Amino acid sequence: QMSETVPEKVTRTVCTYCGVGCNLNVATKGEEIISITSPYDAEANLGHTCLKGRYAFKFYNHPDRLRSPMIKRNGHFEEVSWEEAYSFIVESLKKILAHDGPDAIAGISSARTPNEENYLMQKFMRAVIGTNNIDCCARVCHSPTALGMQRAFGTGAATNSIEDLAYTDCILVIGANPTVAHPVTGARIKQRMMKGVTGIVIDPRKIELAKFAKYHLQLRPGTNVALLNMMLYYIISEELEDRDFIGTRTEGYDEMKTEILKLDIDELERITGVDKNLVREASIAYATATAAMEFHGLGVTEQLQGTFTVQLIADLAMITGNIGKKGSGVNPLRGQNNVQGAADMGCQPHQGAGYLDVTDPEINESYNLFYGRVIPAHIGYKIPEMFDAAISGKLKALWLIGEDVVQTDPNTQKVMKALDSLDLLIVQELFMTETARHATVILPGTSFLEKEGTFTNGERRIQRVQKVVQPLEGTKTDGQIIVDIMNLMGYPQPDYTADGMLQEISQIVPFFAGVKWTELGNSGKQWPVAPDGTDTKLLHTEKFNRGLGKFTFIDFKESNEVEKHGKDYPYIITTNRELEHYNCGAMTRRTGNVEILTEDVLLINPDDAAREKIMDGDFVCVESPRGKVDIKARITDEMKPGILSSTFHFPEVMLNIITSDEHCSEAMCPEYKVVSCRIRKSKGK
Ligand code: SF4
Repeated sequence: QMSETVPEKVTRTVCTYCGVGCNLNVATKGEEIISITSPYDAEANLGHTCLKGRYAFKFYNHPDRLRSPMIKRNGHFEEVSWEEAYSFIVESLKKILAHDGPDAIAGISSARTPNEENYLMQKFMRAVIGTNNIDCCARVCHSPTALGMQRAFGTGAATNSIEDLAYTDCILVIGANPTVAHPVTGARIKQRMMKGVTGIVIDPRKIELAKFAKYHLQLRPGTNVALLNMMLYYIISEELEDRDFIGTRTEGYDEMKTEILKLDIDELERITGVDKNLVREASIAYATATAAMEFHGLGVTEQLQGTFTVQLIADLAMITGNIGKKGSGVNPLRGQNNVQGAADMGCQPHQGAGYLDVTDPEINESYNLFYGRVIPAHIGYKIPEMFDAAISGKLKALWLIGEDVVQTDPNTQKVMKALDSLDLLIVQELFMTETARHATVILPGTSFLEKEGTFTNGERRIQRVQKVVQPLEGTKTDGQIIVDIMNLMGYPQPDYTADGMLQEISQIVPFFAGVKWTELGNSGKQWPVAPDGTDTKLLHTEKFNRGLGKFTFIDFKESNEVEKHGKDYPYIITTNRELEHYNCGAMTRRTGNVEILTEDVLLINPDDAAREKIMDGDFVCVESPRGKVDIKARITDEMKPGILSSTFHFPEVMLNIITSDEHCSEAMCPEYKVVSCRIRKSKGK
C-alpha cells in the first residue's frame, strides 16, 4: 500500500479504530493520502501503530463511499439533493412529533465520531426533540463497566494511565485479548510479561497473552463471578487483604467478607472448571504484588453478570489496596476509539453530558436553563429497548449515525424487524452497510480523515483529531449535518467547529472545565481537566468520587441462555475479534487488510471436531435457538472442548443471526459471550 509519491504535508491526528487512541502522522500530497506513520512523542502509543491504524486510509475515498443523500421510494434508493433530504427529514420528524410526541423518536450516536459531534447529537435529541432516547454503542460493549465502576468508585472510567505498565509487577487480564483487539497496548503488556512481570490471564481461550502469563485461568464462559469470588475467598482466607486501605478508604467490607467466607470453594471450582489450587496461587500473586494492574474487555461485560463482574474487579483492587497508586488500578480496554467520549458527552438515556443524572430535579433545571428548552426528567430507551419499542409501534423514528446494528447487534432477525417497523430510519454512514439498506433516508457522512474534533481514549485522554483532507464531494461532516437539522427544526445552533463546540462543552461537563482546543497540545489531556488546564493521570489518589469505595458481595448466577437452552444446544460459542479487522469491517474490509484475512471462521477444539467428524476447512452449520449460519472450521487447541468462537467482521456469515438478546441484568449489554448452540458438518451456503 505504500506509495512512491513524495508527500507535501504531514497532519497529526488520532486513529479511528480502537480505544488505545494511537497518534498518527498522515502524509498527503494534495488530497491524496500517501502513508500513515506514528510520532514517537505520542504518549498513547510511543511511535507504534498496529496493522489497522497503519493502513487506515484506503477506505476513505473507496469507490463504495456514499456521495449523495438518498431517499427510499417504492423500495429503491433515489439520489436527492441535501436540501431535499433535509426537508424530508424535518417534515417527517415534525409530523411524528405532532402525532406521537417526542418519545416516539430516538437516536443512536457513533462512538467513532468526535466528542463534539456526539455532544451535538445528544443535544439534538434532548433540546430539539425533547426526549432522552439517545444511546450509543457503549450499550453493547462497556455499559456494564461504566455502571459497575460508578457503583464502586463513583467514576466509570479507567483509574490509571497506560504508562503505568512501567510501574506494575503484576498484570491481570480478564476477558480481553489485547494483542488482537488493542494491539499497541497489548504489545506493551506482552513486553512487560516477557520481562518478568507476573501475568494472570482469565479467559476461556488460550489467547496470545496466555502464553506469556504465569497463570492462565481457563474458565467456562459466563463464570467470571464465580472465579473472582474464588480469588476474593483466597485473599481473605490467606489474610492478604490491605487492612489500612480497607479501613480508611472503603465501606461494606465486613458484609462482603462474611458472604465470601460462606462460599463452597469446591462448588465454585466445578462451576468455573478451573483448578482451585491454581486460582489460589494466582490470588496470592495478585495480592502480594507491590502494585497490581487490571485490564478487562468485553469478555467481562457482555454477560448476564457483566456489571456485577466489574464490581467484583473493583472489590479485588480495593481489597488489595490497588487503587489510587501508580502501576495499579482497574483499566477497561475501551473498544471503539471514542466510546469513552460518547458516554462522557451524554449519549446515554439516563445521563446527560458529564454523567449528570437526568432525573435529578436540580440537574434537570440546570440543563433546562443551559439549553433554553425543557429536557424531560424521565430516562429514555436503551438500544435494545428501542428495538422492542419499534416492534411494538411505540417508536416511529430512529436516527442512526455510523452504527451497523444489523451486522453487529445480537439477534439479527429481530434487529431487522425493528428497523423495518419504523416510519422513518435515518442512517448517516460512509458506506451502504447492512443497516443502511433498511433506511428511509441515507445521509453521506465523513470519516475521521475529513473532520476535526477530539477523541477520548481508554485512559481518559482527550486528543485532537485534525482534518487531513477535505470531505469528499457530496458528503458533509457529521457535526455540520446535525447543526443544519437543528437549525431547520427551529433551534439556533452555530456552524460546527471543534473549538466552538469545546467552548460549549467545557461549560456543562465539569471534568472538561479546562479543555481548550488550542491548548490540547500533541498528546492531549486526561480528564478531569481543571479550569486552569491541569489534567489527571491517576484517579482516586486521596478519595473516591463517591467518597468511600464500595465493596459488594455478588453471588454467581448461571447464564439464562445456558439455563434455558444448554440441554438442547450443548456447545457455547463466544464472539471475538481478529487483528486485521475492526468490528463490522466496513472500513477495514476496504483496505489492504482484507487481502490478509478474508473471512470469518469458527474456532473449534480438536476433540470436538473429531467427535463431529469435522476437518479443518470444512463448513459447519452452527445453530442456536435464533437461527443458523454456515461457517468454515479452523481446528485449534486455543479453545476448550465444548467452547467455540468466531468473529463477525464479514456480512457473508452474519454471525449475529445466532447470538441472543439475553443481556447484562443491570446495564442491558447483550450477552455475546455466552451463546448456546449445536453444530454439524455442512456443505456451506
Ligand atoms: Fe492503535 Fe488501536 Fe488504531 Fe491499532 S487500532 S493503531 S492499536 S488505536
